Parts: sequence; structure tokens; C-alpha cells
Amino acid sequence: MFFLSKADLDKKFKILRAEFQKLGVSDELRGWNWQEPPVEPPSRSLFFGVGDLAARYCSTLRDVYLKRIENIKPPPSLKMFEGIVYHGVAADAVTRVKSLLFDKGLISGASLIEDLMPGVGNACERLIWETSNTLGRLEEKDLEFVKKNAITFYKYLLVQAASQIDLTLSKFPHIDVDSLVNQAIPPIVERKVDGSLIGLSKELSVDVYTPAYAVADLKTGEVRNFHPYAPTGYALALEADEEIAVNFGMIIYVKLTSRPAPTINTKLFLIGDELRREFLEIRDEAFEIIANARDPGKPPVCPDYCPYYLICVRK
Ligand code: SF4
Repeated sequence: MFFLSKADLDKKFKILRAEFQKLGVSDELRGWNWQEPPVEPPSRSLFFGVGDLAARYCSTLRDVYLKRIENIKPPPSLKMFEGIVYHGVAADAVTRVKSLLFDKGLISGASLIEDLMPGVGNACERLIWETSNTLGRLEEKDLEFVKKNAITFYKYLLVQAASQIDLTLSKFPHIDVDSLVNQAIPPIVERKVDGSLIGLSKELSVDVYTPAYAVADLKTGEVRNFHPYAPTGYALALEADEEIAVNFGMIIYVKLTSRPAPTINTKLFLIGDELRREFLEIRDEAFEIIANARDPGKPPVCPDYCPYYLICVRK
């Protein structure tokens, strides 16, 4: 994405490519092997969102049972609210920057900032209003907190985009607007992917970092050890749907604190055999729970950050 350092990513991908050369990925664990176990889904009539399987707060998969059999949604929380709003900020900023460039043609970074910066407050309020409509309204102090962070993140993205535009314009004096957009604004593109061949939803939205063909996921909360599962699920779906090898995953962690700019870290990893097997095992176990309407019970310890904590533990 345009707020990541390309030089830094290139270096990390170089290391990962060497790891891939050494370890490889077994062909039987590629998504295109969807007609054979272990990739073949246990049923062709049940589909899961990648998040339903990948967000492994619960080691027994009781969350899957509660959601799909008992029809219980996790109660809305501040964390959930923040996640939706900050994802919305990233999508909105990219769309507005691209629209402005296509509308006005070649403009400087400074002009982009003059045009878009005044609308940041309203854009964030709209995103918060939309999220309130789906999740419910937060307390006033929490709304203020989310709004302040959303504005910080939005402004940061606009400044980064403006800087990339100026750098690209000065490097390529004959560039046209189409190339400018491609060059300066994210090489991460949202792709719609049909995951049904491997038991996932028919219309998944996947972010793909094109130079390395890596599946990317933006996270705005804490670092969790199950985060690599989501890119793994998307990689398998892309391989099944498009027969393209996806070897790498990338998680972009955005942390918004009281500091004037967000802290951004990336985790890059090989989507190797072990991750693929683990994801497919989770999928198969989820299928079994749903097929038998079986409550798998609670794990010995429920993490208090599990979205279902209030339902299962603190009733
Ligand atoms: S609260 Fe415990 S049992 Fe319920 S979904 Fe979370 S981890 Fe599982």
C-alpha cells in the first residue's frame, strides 16, 4: 500500500522467496486441488466466510456453533466498531484520492491535500454514522475517541498519498494520469474471489499486493497468533478460483494511539504447508460442528477479548 515502504517490503519478500525456494509448498495443498482431499471441502452445500474460520479466538470453535446453529451474533464492542471504521477510512481515502486524480488529471500532492483535507471530518463522521447503524451507537466518549483516531488515520493516508504523487511526478515527467494512479496509489487491489470450490463464500473480498502476488490483510487491533489464517484462506480461494499460486501473506498492523501519527508494522510470511493444513483442519471441524449441530463446549480458558466472552462466560 502507498503508506508502506516499497524498499522495505522488497527486502522482506526477498528473504521470503529464499524461504519458499527451500521449503516450497506441496501441490496437494494448493487451492487448485479442490477436487481431492485435503483441500476438497466435506460438503458442497455449506460455505463459510474466511473470518468465521480464521478469527480463532476460540480453540474449540464454539463461536462457529453459536453463530451458525444458535444464530447468536457476538455483542458489538468498541474494538469491533473501531475495526469497521478504520477499514472504512482506508477504503474511503484510497477511493477519494483515485477519483480526484481521474477527475482533475495530473495534480500536485499539495493540490490533493487542499482538495481532500477539508472533507476528512465529514467523511469520518459518515463512516461512524454508518457503523452505528449496523452495530449500534457507542457512548459519547467512545465515539469521540474513534472519531479522533479516524481523522488522524485519514489525514495520515492523504499526506502519504500526496507525497507518493509528488515523488512519482518528479521521477516521471511524462507520466499520464492512469500510470500515476498505478504507480503512486496502492499496489494493493481488492479482488472479488469465489471461494465456494473449497467451502468458502462465493464472493470473498481479497486484498492482493501485486508485485509479489501476496495476500494482504489490514488489522487495527492487537497482534494475535491466528492472524495468518485469514491470508491463508484467501490464498487457497484464489488458487482454487484463478489457478494462480499464492505463496506469501502480509498483515498490515495499524496502531492508533495518542501519538500524532499511526504506528504501522507489517508481518510477512510464507503461506506454507503447515498454515494450509491448519486452516483446512479448522474448516473441516467447522463443517462437522454444523452438520451435527454439535456444541463443542468451552476451552479450558476463554480469552476475555473473545467477541463471545459476554455470551459464554459473563452471562
Ligand atoms: S467465550 Fe470461550 S467458549 Fe465462547 S466462543 Fe469465546 S473462547 Fe469460545
